[in-house]
Amino acid sequence: MKRILIVEDEDKIARFLELELVHEGYEVVKKHDGRSGLEAALSGSFSLMILDIMLPGINGLEVLRRLRKTSELPVIMLTARDQVMDKVNGLDMGADDYMTKPFAVEELLARIRLVLRKHSSSEPETAAGSGHIHQIRGLVMDESAHTVKYQGKEISLTNKEFQLLRELMINCNVVLSRETILSSVWGYDYVGETNVVDVYVRFLRHKIDDAVGEKFILTVRGVGYVIKDEHRE
Ligand code: CA
Repeated sequence: MKRILIVEDEDKIARFLELELVHEGYEVVKKHDGRSGLEAALSGSFSLMILDIMLPGINGLEVLRRLRKTSELPVIMLTARDQVMDKVNGLDMGADDYMTKPFAVEELLARIRLVLRKHSSSEPETAAGSGHIHQIRGLVMDESAHTVKYQGKEISLTNKEFQLLRELMINCNVVLSRETILSSVWGYDYVGETNVVDVYVRFLRHKIDDAVGEKFILTVRGVGYVIKDEHRE
């Protein structure tokens, strides 16, 4: 039986989730603060954790950050509606998905199944397609070394920034819609959450445009984003 850890201080939500998950055939353990939640998560006896961000003691993002030092336990974050930045941080720190409160429990159950399925079919991350080098206007991405350099100088990117840049570079001169970027970089359906893309493009621009000294990622209004190279078709 799959065991799910719920870390949520709002007792009503935690109890409701427990009922629904037990009904679905999962075994459930609840924790009400970050510290005991992290301790339980590190026990290695769970298949997945549902982690609220606003928690007493250490908050959910900090729990996730500490967990990820040693554990790849799948994590679905719970966030309030106005916490876009927290979502972005959570995904960047290795959360597998998030749900915005209030949410339909059917959707959470569907995402739990999806995340569990993904993790059980452990796909090798650096298999096909690695070892590729992409070059546009002096910016060089080495996928196997996981580095981005401009004129020999390394630009430090987070994992998600790297993936987003890669998507734009391999589609050089092709305008990508936010939806396309969402599904290829985040891997599944993020309908209605396209602002995550905008937030990341902003992060990327801050780093890339600064290093390159010109606008590298262009906005095509009403359509999406593109990196152009006039020397290519
Ligand atoms: Ca809370």
